[in-house]
Amino acid sequence: MRVLHVTAELYPWVKSGGLGDVAAALSPAQAAIGIDARLLVPGFAGFLDAFADVTDVARLHTPFAAERVRIGLARLPGTDCRAYLVDHPALYDRPGNPYAGPDGNDWPDNHRRFGLFGWAAAALARGADRGWRPQILHCHDWHGGLAPAYLAASPAEDRVDTLFTIHNLAYRGLFSGAVFPELGLPAGFFAVDGVEFYGQTSYLKAGLFYSDHLSTVSPTYAREIQTPDFGWGLDGLLRSRAGVLTGILNGVDPQIWDPSRDAALPRPYGVDDAPAGKRAAKAALQARLGLAENPDVALFGVVSRLTWQKGLDLLLAAVPGLVAGGGQLALLGSGDADVEAGFAAAARTHSGRVAVELGYDEPLAHQIFAGADLVLLPSRFEPCGLTQLYALRYGALPLVRRVGGLADTVVDATAVTLADATATGFAYDEESPAALLAAVGRALALMYQPAVWRRIMRQAMTRDFSWAAAARRYRALYRTMRADSAG
Ligand code: ADP
Repeated sequence: MRVLHVTAELYPWVKSGGLGDVAAALSPAQAAIGIDARLLVPGFAGFLDAFADVTDVARLHTPFAAERVRIGLARLPGTDCRAYLVDHPALYDRPGNPYAGPDGNDWPDNHRRFGLFGWAAAALARGADRGWRPQILHCHDWHGGLAPAYLAASPAEDRVDTLFTIHNLAYRGLFSGAVFPELGLPAGFFAVDGVEFYGQTSYLKAGLFYSDHLSTVSPTYAREIQTPDFGWGLDGLLRSRAGVLTGILNGVDPQIWDPSRDAALPRPYGVDDAPAGKRAAKAALQARLGLAENPDVALFGVVSRLTWQKGLDLLLAAVPGLVAGGGQLALLGSGDADVEAGFAAAARTHSGRVAVELGYDEPLAHQIFAGADLVLLPSRFEPCGLTQLYALRYGALPLVRRVGGLADTVVDATAVTLADATATGFAYDEESPAALLAAVGRALALMYQPAVWRRIMRQAMTRDFSWAAAARRYRALYRTMRADSAG
């Protein structure tokens, strides 16, 4: 089975969040079960710098440039996976993250950058590479959302089955309605039954409307996005497509996230020596971040984008309560200026108890999961969430709001789950600082029962969220899609 993944991010070269991790881990896991998976990425500077020996696959006339656009093919460094590159420096070879310039603002020509990207994906699906044509086009998030629309506008014999995976419904790929004529799609596609969203052009909606099947990254999120509270105005469309919408959980890449062979830690540890390994990691983390060096204090960790989604404004309001309860907080993140400023101020007020690192730092992220006793995720919504999976693996118990993938992956410690040995963390429902602090109180009560805590930690560390399982589920879905289209 030949599958082309269409993704704007790919760890470690270009990543702004979980999508980069997923794209990097899914195709090798698929290759391991016999799927011929390739990727398509935009020719961002991060990829151009890293990929050696890019060979020419095609040079295509597109609606987005006077000159022809090159499609290249490269082997991903250190792997057997191959990735196509839309090599058009005028649109992609720029500093900054994939979507915004160094000033933090979205590039004003993003509709063209990701218009060309979707167009190129459809061209490959139609056979632009004479040597390899996918049978399934698997698009991820709004960046590739136009690809299924371009295919839908193609003659029937040129189409392949399309799967669109929602990693985050909040990013709708919205542009003015005025950009639509630049995309080279049939005029009739700018409609409620099409890419139009209240007068605007939505690349996400294009993916949701024109793909054969849809998936998202947890079963609970698959249900939530069909409701107005989580649907971002697209819940009606998603309800109408409920029959072809599946939830498949993400996994953990053990090459990158494994405390027993993690070079970022002061000493590696496994399930059996976790208490000693975590003690060393905690001491090192406290020293590095200027927290009071005390092995007995409860150390709460956060590694996150600082956006409304993540609910960290609710945590900020709870910081005085957390500190009053004897806790320490180590937060690593970057994002919204007001949340950044709020945490920076909290670190000044609670010096030695609250440490805040604003920025992006992979090794420190690993050190926080290892050194923290608990990792906090007070998310307003969470499609899957990877950090709670990393926390589980590193024996930092996740304390989460019960939404989306958090609800599917963390088992709240209650009398019942403690008795049947399934508890792996703490979960609460209400979106408020008080509810967060109540869950913290429950966690602290257990933390001071070391034998109980160690048992929960063991259960957390041995939960298996593997990419192999996810790869098998995607394969089953691809098979269903192929059977549907054949029938
Ligand atoms: P999202 O995709 O919504 O940001 P996920 O939990 O799915 O959330 O994935 C977040 C990923 O980004 C994880 O790999 C996490 O460790 C990483 N991450 C987030 N913020 C930072 C940061 N400031 N420094 C290092 N890694 C980060």
